[in-house]
Amino acid sequence: MPELPEVETTLRGIGPHLIGQQITDAVIRNPKLRWGIPGDLPELLQRQIVRSVQRRAKYLLIAFDHGTLILHLGMSGSLRIQPVGTPPERHDHFDLLLDNGKLLRLRDPRRFGAVLWQQGDVKQHPLLNSLGPEPLQGAFDADYLYAVTRKRKAAIKLVIMDGHVVVGVGNIYANEALFRAGIRPQLAAGKLSKERCARLTETIKQVLRAAIRKGGSSLRDYVDSDGKQGYFQQHYYVYGRTGAPCRACGTPIRQIKQGQRSTFFCPACQR
Ligand SMILES: [Zn+2]
Repeated sequence: MPELPEVETTLRGIGPHLIGQQITDAVIRNPKLRWGIPGDLPELLQRQIVRSVQRRAKYLLIAFDHGTLILHLGMSGSLRIQPVGTPPERHDHFDLLLDNGKLLRLRDPRRFGAVLWQQGDVKQHPLLNSLGPEPLQGAFDADYLYAVTRKRKAAIKLVIMDGHVVVGVGNIYANEALFRAGIRPQLAAGKLSKERCARLTETIKQVLRAAIRKGGSSLRDYVDSDGKQGYFQQHYYVYGRTGAPCRACGTPIRQIKQGQRSTFFCPACQR
């Protein structure tokens, strides 16, 4: 599933091809994604100029003067830049045609992705208006995490994966950040000291930045005509390492379930 680093890498790959370009057409081949693609998009977008391309959580926001196209990659979506006229393949459901002779193409075999339109201020869209801060921005710091976790009995891992607290911390990154911070995933969030909140906000930023850096090397993949997608093979400390020796102390890594997701931790290093 595309996580925040993959979406950020996609943004960096497609942004330069789109910004300042005029839309010549939009093609909806299959509107049945997670929500239906609005049928009036071709009309709405024709001759409009892309003003900016940004990311909020895992949403890509392509802004025009009169509104914003909101894209989400769902479970299996990917975006690629191809020359206009490239024949679509089976799962290529949506194209945005540009006057530079290229097109932005959404491929989504499982169709959990989304293509939505928001007139006016995109921050007011129901999917965006109650999101927590971006993990890589300054607002996500020790003071913030400490304040929002006070009196919370929920496990810290579930709290950092809650998009109302902070966006884009997926399961892999939550596991890895908690290991690096020496925090046990089951710990009640309200028990974290300010110091441990500081450590955790730092390690979340570290693991996400590292993943984005790795994505940088596969940036080309997002603009190649064959559009091979770059998922990042990383050197994990705990994720997927059940029973294997902890890389820090040798204790076998343990696996439990939290909120239907697998949690991996070292019972010696994480308290
Ligand atoms: Zn250990």
